[in-house]
Amino acid sequence: MPLIVQKYGGTSVGNIERIKNVARKIKKAVDEGNQVVVVSSAMTGETDRLIGLTRELSNRPNPREQDMVVATGEQVAIGLVAIALQELGVPAISLTGWQVPIITDNVHTKARIKKIDTHRIRKHLDEGKVVIVAGFQGVSEDGDITTLGRGGSDTSAVALAAALKADVCEIYTDVPGVFTADPRIVENARKIPVISYEEMMEMASLGSKVMQIRSVEFGAKYGVKIHVRSSFNDEEGTWIMEENEEMEKVVVRGISHELKESRITVVRVPDKPGVAAKLFKALGDKNIVVDMIVQNVSHKGFTDISFTVNKTDADYAEEIAREVAKEVGAEDVERNDKIAKISVVGLGMKTHSGVAGKMFEVLYKEGINIYAISTSEIKISCLIDEKYAELAVRALHEAFIENMEGDIQYE
Ligand code: ASP
Ligand code: MG
Repeated sequence: MPLIVQKYGGTSVGNIERIKNVARKIKKAVDEGNQVVVVSSAMTGETDRLIGLTRELSNRPNPREQDMVVATGEQVAIGLVAIALQELGVPAISLTGWQVPIITDNVHTKARIKKIDTHRIRKHLDEGKVVIVAGFQGVSEDGDITTLGRGGSDTSAVALAAALKADVCEIYTDVPGVFTADPRIVENARKIPVISYEEMMEMASLGSKVMQIRSVEFGAKYGVKIHVRSSFNDEEGTWIMEENEEMEKVVVRGISHELKESRITVVRVPDKPGVAAKLFKALGDKNIVVDMIVQNVSHKGFTDISFTVNKTDADYAEEIAREVAKEVGAEDVERNDKIAKISVVGLGMKTHSGVAGKMFEVLYKEGINIYAISTSEIKISCLIDEKYAELAVRALHEAFIENMEGDIQYE
Protein backbone atom coordinates (compact mmCIF):
# COMPACT_ATOMS: atom_id res chain seq x y z
CA MET A 1 0.00 0.00 0.00
CA PRO A 2 1.47 3.40 -0.90
CA LEU A 3 2.32 5.63 2.05
CA ILE A 4 1.84 9.38 1.79
CA VAL A 5 2.90 12.04 4.25
CA GLN A 6 0.74 15.15 3.93
CA LYS A 7 1.69 18.37 5.64
CA TYR A 8 -0.83 21.16 6.17
CA GLY A 9 0.34 24.68 6.95
CA GLY A 10 -1.26 27.18 9.29
CA THR A 11 -3.59 28.78 6.75
CA SER A 12 -4.79 25.35 5.59
CA VAL A 13 -6.03 24.65 9.13
CA GLY A 14 -6.78 28.31 9.86
CA ASN A 15 -10.40 27.84 10.94
CA ILE A 16 -12.96 25.10 11.47
CA GLU A 17 -14.24 25.23 7.88
CA ARG A 18 -10.72 24.80 6.58
CA ILE A 19 -10.04 21.96 8.97
CA LYS A 20 -13.12 20.21 7.57
CA ASN A 21 -11.73 20.78 4.07
CA VAL A 22 -8.40 19.27 5.13
CA ALA A 23 -10.23 16.25 6.56
CA ARG A 24 -12.00 15.76 3.22
CA LYS A 25 -8.66 15.87 1.39
CA ILE A 26 -7.18 13.32 3.75
CA LYS A 27 -10.23 11.08 3.36
CA LYS A 28 -9.83 11.25 -0.41
CA ALA A 29 -6.23 9.98 -0.15
CA VAL A 30 -7.41 7.18 2.17
CA ASP A 31 -10.27 6.23 -0.18
CA GLU A 32 -7.75 6.05 -3.03
CA GLY A 33 -5.97 3.27 -1.16
CA ASN A 34 -3.12 5.08 0.58
CA GLN A 35 -1.83 4.91 4.10
CA VAL A 36 -1.67 8.51 5.28
CA VAL A 37 0.41 10.27 7.90
CA VAL A 38 -0.55 13.91 8.38
CA VAL A 39 1.66 16.63 9.85
CA SER A 40 -0.06 19.83 10.89
CA SER A 41 1.13 23.31 11.80
CA ALA A 42 -0.63 25.45 14.35
CA MET A 43 -3.69 27.40 13.16
CA THR A 44 -2.61 30.55 11.36
CA GLY A 45 -1.36 33.33 13.65
CA GLU A 46 -1.31 31.06 16.68
CA THR A 47 2.47 30.66 16.93
CA ASP A 48 2.92 34.44 16.71
CA ARG A 49 0.28 34.91 19.38
CA LEU A 50 1.98 32.43 21.71
CA ILE A 51 5.42 33.97 21.18
CA GLY A 52 3.79 37.35 21.83
CA LEU A 53 2.56 36.16 25.20
CA THR A 54 6.06 35.13 26.25
CA ARG A 55 7.39 38.53 25.08
CA GLU A 56 4.86 40.32 27.26
CA LEU A 57 6.70 38.82 30.20
CA SER A 58 10.28 38.95 29.01
CA ASN A 59 12.48 40.38 26.24
CA ARG A 60 14.52 37.21 26.19
CA PRO A 61 12.27 34.45 27.49
CA ASN A 62 13.97 31.30 28.67
CA PRO A 63 14.08 29.14 25.53
CA ARG A 64 12.98 25.96 27.27
CA GLU A 65 9.89 27.68 28.61
CA GLN A 66 9.21 29.39 25.30
CA ASP A 67 9.14 25.97 23.64
CA MET A 68 6.75 24.76 26.31
CA VAL A 69 4.34 27.55 25.42
CA VAL A 70 4.78 27.63 21.66
CA ALA A 71 4.47 23.88 21.08
CA THR A 72 0.85 23.98 22.24
CA GLY A 73 -0.31 25.55 18.96
CA GLU A 74 0.25 22.35 17.00
CA GLN A 75 -1.30 20.20 19.71
CA VAL A 76 -4.62 22.01 19.30
CA ALA A 77 -4.53 21.67 15.51
CA ILE A 78 -3.82 17.91 15.41
CA GLY A 79 -6.60 17.15 17.88
CA LEU A 80 -9.07 19.16 15.78
CA VAL A 81 -7.99 17.44 12.54
CA ALA A 82 -8.39 14.03 14.20
CA ILE A 83 -11.91 14.91 15.38
CA ALA A 84 -12.85 16.21 11.92
CA LEU A 85 -11.66 12.94 10.35
CA GLN A 86 -13.51 10.81 12.87
CA GLU A 87 -16.68 12.77 12.04
CA LEU A 88 -16.21 11.66 8.41
CA GLY A 89 -15.95 8.06 9.57
CA VAL A 90 -12.18 7.86 9.07
CA PRO A 91 -10.31 6.21 11.98
CA ALA A 92 -7.64 8.68 13.12
CA ILE A 93 -5.32 9.37 16.03
CA SER A 94 -3.27 12.46 16.84
CA LEU A 95 0.24 12.30 18.34
CA THR A 96 2.45 15.05 19.74
CA GLY A 97 6.16 15.07 18.95
CA TRP A 98 7.03 13.40 22.23
CA GLN A 99 4.37 10.75 21.82
CA VAL A 100 5.89 9.60 18.52
CA PRO A 101 8.70 10.25 19.70
CA ILE A 102 10.65 12.63 17.47
CA ILE A 103 13.98 12.95 19.25
CA THR A 104 15.90 16.22 18.83
CA ASP A 105 19.00 17.84 20.27
CA ASN A 106 18.41 20.25 23.13
CA VAL A 107 18.93 23.56 21.30
CA HIS A 108 15.59 25.06 22.31
CA THR A 109 13.66 27.12 19.73
CA LYS A 110 15.87 25.79 16.90
CA ALA A 111 16.34 22.15 17.66
CA ARG A 112 17.44 19.61 15.07
CA ILE A 113 15.87 16.21 14.63
CA LYS A 114 18.25 13.38 15.57
CA LYS A 115 16.06 10.34 15.29
CA ILE A 116 12.45 9.32 14.78
CA ASP A 117 11.06 6.15 16.29
CA THR A 118 8.45 4.93 13.82
CA HIS A 119 7.08 1.96 15.81
CA ARG A 120 4.05 3.67 17.23
CA ILE A 121 3.11 5.33 13.93
CA ARG A 122 3.47 2.00 12.11
CA LYS A 123 1.29 0.30 14.68
CA HIS A 124 -1.52 2.81 14.20
CA LEU A 125 -1.19 2.66 10.41
CA ASP A 126 -1.49 -1.14 10.62
CA GLU A 127 -4.67 -0.65 12.65
CA GLY A 128 -6.02 1.23 9.64
CA LYS A 129 -5.76 4.68 11.19
CA VAL A 130 -4.65 7.99 9.79
CA VAL A 131 -1.92 9.27 12.10
CA ILE A 132 -1.81 13.02 12.66
CA VAL A 133 1.50 14.24 14.03
CA ALA A 134 2.18 17.66 15.51
CA GLY A 135 4.67 19.52 13.34
CA PHE A 136 7.43 21.83 14.57
CA GLN A 137 8.06 19.95 17.82
CA GLY A 138 10.05 17.13 19.30
CA VAL A 139 11.55 15.99 22.54
CA SER A 140 15.16 16.21 23.67
CA GLU A 141 17.03 13.24 25.07
CA ASP A 142 16.49 14.82 28.52
CA GLY A 143 12.74 14.63 27.95
CA ASP A 144 12.12 18.34 27.35
CA ILE A 145 9.79 19.68 24.68
CA THR A 146 11.69 21.36 21.85
CA THR A 147 10.69 23.24 18.69
CA LEU A 148 12.46 23.24 15.34
CA GLY A 149 12.48 26.91 14.37
CA ARG A 150 9.81 28.91 12.56
CA GLY A 151 8.27 26.99 9.72
CA GLY A 152 9.57 23.78 11.25
CA SER A 153 6.51 21.69 10.44
CA ASP A 154 7.87 21.21 6.93
CA THR A 155 10.98 19.65 8.39
CA SER A 156 8.87 17.44 10.64
CA ALA A 157 6.97 16.24 7.57
CA VAL A 158 9.97 15.55 5.36
CA ALA A 159 11.84 13.88 8.22
CA LEU A 160 8.84 11.64 8.90
CA ALA A 161 8.56 10.82 5.20
CA ALA A 162 12.25 9.84 5.23
CA ALA A 163 11.95 7.75 8.39
CA LEU A 164 8.82 6.00 7.11
CA LYS A 165 10.23 5.66 3.56
CA ALA A 166 7.04 7.28 2.28
CA ASP A 167 6.36 7.39 -1.46
CA VAL A 168 5.84 11.14 -1.42
CA CYS A 169 5.74 14.05 0.99
CA GLU A 170 2.99 16.46 0.01
CA ILE A 171 3.30 19.97 1.38
CA TYR A 172 -0.11 21.63 1.30
CA THR A 173 0.08 25.37 1.55
CA ASP A 174 -1.73 28.58 0.58
CA VAL A 175 0.19 29.08 -2.68
CA PRO A 176 0.07 26.88 -5.80
CA GLY A 177 3.79 26.01 -5.74
CA VAL A 178 7.22 27.59 -6.13
CA PHE A 179 7.43 30.48 -8.60
CA THR A 180 10.22 31.87 -10.79
CA ALA A 181 10.08 35.01 -8.59
CA ASP A 182 7.77 36.34 -5.93
CA PRO A 183 4.46 36.78 -7.82
CA ARG A 184 3.55 39.74 -5.62
CA ILE A 185 6.49 41.60 -7.14
CA VAL A 186 6.75 40.13 -10.62
CA GLU A 187 3.51 40.00 -12.54
CA ASN A 188 4.87 37.49 -15.06
CA ALA A 189 6.27 35.06 -12.51
CA ARG A 190 5.31 31.46 -13.34
CA LYS A 191 4.91 28.28 -11.37
CA ILE A 192 7.94 25.99 -11.67
CA PRO A 193 6.82 22.41 -12.40
CA VAL A 194 10.01 20.63 -11.31
CA ILE A 195 13.01 21.88 -9.39
CA SER A 196 16.07 20.14 -7.94
CA TYR A 197 16.74 20.06 -4.20
CA GLU A 198 19.90 22.04 -4.77
CA GLU A 199 18.14 24.83 -6.66
CA MET A 200 15.37 24.95 -4.10
CA MET A 201 17.93 25.33 -1.30
CA GLU A 202 19.70 28.10 -3.15
CA MET A 203 16.45 29.93 -3.75
CA ALA A 204 16.24 30.33 -0.01
CA SER A 205 13.88 33.28 0.04
CA LEU A 206 11.57 32.16 -2.71
CA GLY A 207 11.62 28.73 -1.24
CA SER A 208 11.39 29.64 2.39
CA LYS A 209 8.22 31.61 1.83
CA VAL A 210 6.86 28.25 0.75
CA MET A 211 8.91 25.78 2.77
CA GLN A 212 11.48 25.78 5.55
CA ILE A 213 14.83 25.31 3.84
CA ARG A 214 16.04 22.76 6.34
CA SER A 215 13.24 20.49 5.18
CA VAL A 216 14.65 20.55 1.65
CA GLU A 217 18.11 19.64 3.00
CA PHE A 218 16.48 16.68 4.66
CA GLY A 219 14.69 15.76 1.46
CA ALA A 220 17.95 15.88 -0.49
CA LYS A 221 19.82 13.79 2.06
CA TYR A 222 17.24 11.02 2.10
CA GLY A 223 15.86 11.35 -1.44
CA VAL A 224 12.32 12.21 -0.34
CA LYS A 225 10.14 13.29 -3.27
CA ILE A 226 8.39 16.49 -2.23
CA HIS A 227 5.30 17.90 -3.86
CA VAL A 228 4.42 21.46 -2.83
CA ARG A 229 0.82 22.30 -3.70
CA SER A 230 -2.22 24.32 -2.78
CA SER A 231 -4.62 23.01 -0.18
CA PHE A 232 -7.45 24.94 -1.86
CA ASN A 233 -7.55 23.03 -5.18
CA ASP A 234 -6.35 19.79 -6.80
CA GLU A 235 -3.86 21.32 -9.23
CA GLU A 236 -0.35 19.94 -9.55
CA GLY A 237 2.14 22.12 -7.71
CA THR A 238 5.94 22.02 -7.80
CA TRP A 239 7.88 18.76 -7.48
CA ILE A 240 11.20 18.96 -5.68
CA MET A 241 13.43 16.04 -6.53
CA GLU A 242 16.85 14.81 -7.62
CA GLU A 243 18.29 16.70 -10.57
CA ASN A 244 18.33 15.17 -14.04
CA GLU A 245 19.71 16.19 -17.43
CA GLU A 246 16.45 17.79 -18.51
CA MET A 247 16.67 20.22 -15.61
CA GLU A 248 20.14 21.42 -16.64
CA LYS A 249 18.75 22.84 -19.86
CA VAL A 250 17.33 25.77 -17.95
CA VAL A 251 20.10 28.19 -17.07
CA VAL A 252 18.18 30.36 -14.61
CA ARG A 253 15.32 28.68 -12.79
CA GLY A 254 14.38 31.62 -10.63
CA ILE A 255 15.21 35.00 -9.10
CA SER A 256 15.01 35.19 -5.36
CA HIS A 257 15.35 38.00 -2.91
CA GLU A 258 15.96 38.07 0.78
CA LEU A 259 15.19 41.04 3.02
CA LYS A 260 15.67 39.23 6.27
CA GLU A 261 19.38 39.79 6.62
CA SER A 262 21.51 42.43 8.27
CA ARG A 263 25.07 43.30 7.37
CA ILE A 264 27.61 43.72 10.12
CA THR A 265 31.03 45.20 9.38
CA VAL A 266 34.03 45.07 11.63
CA VAL A 267 35.93 48.17 10.61
CA ARG A 268 39.72 48.49 10.40
CA VAL A 269 40.71 45.09 11.67
CA PRO A 270 44.46 44.47 11.90
CA ASP A 271 45.14 42.19 8.93
CA LYS A 272 46.78 39.24 10.61
CA PRO A 273 46.07 35.51 10.81
CA GLY A 274 43.44 34.31 13.26
CA VAL A 275 41.11 37.32 13.31
CA ALA A 276 38.46 35.82 11.04
CA ALA A 277 38.76 32.52 12.87
CA LYS A 278 38.11 34.21 16.19
CA LEU A 279 35.10 36.14 14.92
CA PHE A 280 33.35 33.33 13.12
CA LYS A 281 34.11 30.77 15.79
CA ALA A 282 32.49 33.06 18.38
CA LEU A 283 29.39 33.40 16.19
CA GLY A 284 29.27 29.68 15.47
CA ASP A 285 29.53 28.84 19.14
CA LYS A 286 26.31 30.78 19.68
CA ASN A 287 24.56 28.93 16.84
CA ILE A 288 24.40 32.08 14.69
CA VAL A 289 24.34 31.19 11.03
CA VAL A 290 26.47 33.50 8.90
CA ASP A 291 25.54 33.85 5.24
CA MET A 292 27.78 36.11 3.12
CA ILE A 293 31.29 37.01 4.19
CA VAL A 294 33.38 39.69 2.52
CA GLN A 295 36.88 40.70 3.50
CA ASN A 296 38.27 43.72 1.72
CA VAL A 297 41.77 43.91 0.34
CA SER A 298 43.91 45.15 3.18
CA HIS A 299 45.15 48.70 3.21
CA LYS A 300 48.24 49.58 5.26
CA GLY A 301 47.83 46.49 7.40
CA PHE A 302 44.14 46.99 8.08
CA THR A 303 41.03 45.54 6.50
CA ASP A 304 37.23 45.45 6.92
CA ILE A 305 35.34 42.22 7.44
CA SER A 306 31.62 42.23 6.61
CA PHE A 307 29.15 39.43 7.05
CA THR A 308 25.41 38.97 6.94
CA VAL A 309 23.17 37.21 9.43
CA ASN A 310 19.46 36.79 9.83
CA LYS A 311 17.88 39.95 11.29
CA THR A 312 16.58 37.95 14.24
CA ASP A 313 20.21 37.18 15.17
CA ALA A 314 21.59 40.64 14.37
CA ASP A 315 21.53 42.12 17.89
CA TYR A 316 23.35 39.16 19.28
CA ALA A 317 25.79 38.97 16.37
CA GLU A 318 26.58 42.68 16.72
CA GLU A 319 27.24 42.19 20.42
CA ILE A 320 29.64 39.33 19.69
CA ALA A 321 31.32 41.28 16.89
CA ARG A 322 31.89 44.18 19.30
CA GLU A 323 33.52 41.90 21.84
CA VAL A 324 35.81 40.36 19.23
CA ALA A 325 36.54 43.81 17.74
CA LYS A 326 37.73 45.02 21.12
CA GLU A 327 39.88 41.93 21.62
CA VAL A 328 41.64 42.20 18.26
CA GLY A 329 41.93 45.99 18.26
CA ALA A 330 39.50 46.81 15.46
CA GLU A 331 38.27 50.38 15.16
CA ASP A 332 34.51 49.95 15.16
CA VAL A 333 31.51 47.80 14.30
CA GLU A 334 28.87 49.03 11.88
CA ARG A 335 25.50 47.56 11.14
CA ASN A 336 23.09 48.00 8.23
CA ASP A 337 19.60 46.50 8.41
CA LYS A 338 18.45 48.01 5.12
CA ILE A 339 19.99 45.58 2.70
CA ALA A 340 18.62 43.00 0.28
CA LYS A 341 20.21 39.93 -1.20
CA ILE A 342 19.15 39.21 -4.77
CA SER A 343 20.03 35.87 -6.34
CA VAL A 344 19.75 34.21 -9.70
CA VAL A 345 19.63 30.44 -9.41
CA GLY A 346 19.81 27.63 -11.94
CA LEU A 347 21.43 24.24 -12.50
CA GLY A 348 22.34 25.20 -16.06
CA MET A 349 24.93 27.64 -14.71
CA LYS A 350 27.18 24.64 -14.20
CA THR A 351 27.57 24.38 -17.95
CA HIS A 352 26.78 27.88 -19.25
CA SER A 353 28.94 30.93 -18.68
CA GLY A 354 28.10 34.60 -18.81
CA VAL A 355 25.42 34.68 -16.14
CA ALA A 356 27.38 36.76 -13.65
CA GLY A 357 28.37 39.33 -16.25
CA LYS A 358 24.82 39.64 -17.44
CA MET A 359 23.49 39.97 -13.90
CA PHE A 360 25.90 42.82 -13.07
CA GLU A 361 25.03 44.53 -16.32
CA VAL A 362 21.29 44.39 -15.61
CA LEU A 363 21.84 45.89 -12.16
CA TYR A 364 24.20 48.51 -13.55
CA LYS A 365 21.65 49.57 -16.17
CA GLU A 366 19.14 50.16 -13.39
CA GLY A 367 21.72 52.22 -11.51
CA ILE A 368 21.91 49.76 -8.62
CA ASN A 369 25.14 49.59 -6.66
CA ILE A 370 26.42 46.19 -5.52
CA TYR A 371 27.83 45.96 -1.96
CA ALA A 372 28.93 42.36 -2.03
CA ILE A 373 28.82 39.33 -4.29
CA SER A 374 28.82 35.65 -3.53
CA THR A 375 28.59 32.69 -5.84
CA SER A 376 28.12 28.97 -5.84
CA GLU A 377 28.08 26.54 -8.74
CA ILE A 378 24.41 27.26 -9.37
CA LYS A 379 23.80 30.69 -7.83
CA ILE A 380 25.01 34.27 -7.96
CA SER A 381 23.94 36.62 -5.19
CA CYS A 382 24.37 40.36 -4.93
CA LEU A 383 23.88 42.43 -1.82
CA ILE A 384 22.19 45.75 -2.60
CA ASP A 385 20.30 48.56 -0.93
CA GLU A 386 16.92 47.33 0.30
CA LYS A 387 15.05 50.08 -1.53
CA TYR A 388 16.07 48.67 -4.92
CA ALA A 389 15.08 45.07 -4.18
CA GLU A 390 11.85 44.98 -6.18
CA LEU A 391 13.32 46.86 -9.11
CA ALA A 392 16.25 44.43 -9.23
CA VAL A 393 14.04 41.36 -9.08
CA ARG A 394 11.80 42.64 -11.89
CA ALA A 395 14.70 43.59 -14.13
CA LEU A 396 16.49 40.28 -13.59
CA HIS A 397 13.32 38.26 -14.13
CA GLU A 398 12.74 40.03 -17.38
CA ALA A 399 16.31 39.54 -18.54
CA PHE A 400 16.83 35.95 -17.48
CA ILE A 401 13.40 34.36 -17.58
CA GLU A 402 10.89 36.29 -19.68
CA ASN A 403 13.33 37.03 -22.51
CA MET A 404 15.04 33.67 -22.37
CA GLU A 405 12.33 31.09 -23.07
CA GLY A 406 14.10 28.25 -24.87
CA ASP A 407 17.23 30.35 -25.30
CA ILE A 408 20.40 29.71 -23.37
CA GLN A 409 22.99 31.86 -25.11
CA TYR A 410 23.96 35.02 -23.31
CA GLU A 411 26.79 36.27 -25.45
N1 ASP B 1 3.68 26.90 13.69
C1 ASP B 1 5.08 27.03 13.48
C2 ASP B 1 5.43 28.38 12.91
O1 ASP B 1 4.60 29.21 12.67
C3 ASP B 1 5.63 25.95 12.61
C4 ASP B 1 5.11 25.93 11.21
O2 ASP B 1 4.13 26.58 10.87
O3 ASP B 1 5.70 25.21 10.40
O4 ASP B 1 6.59 28.66 12.69
MG1 MG C 1 4.93 27.22 6.96
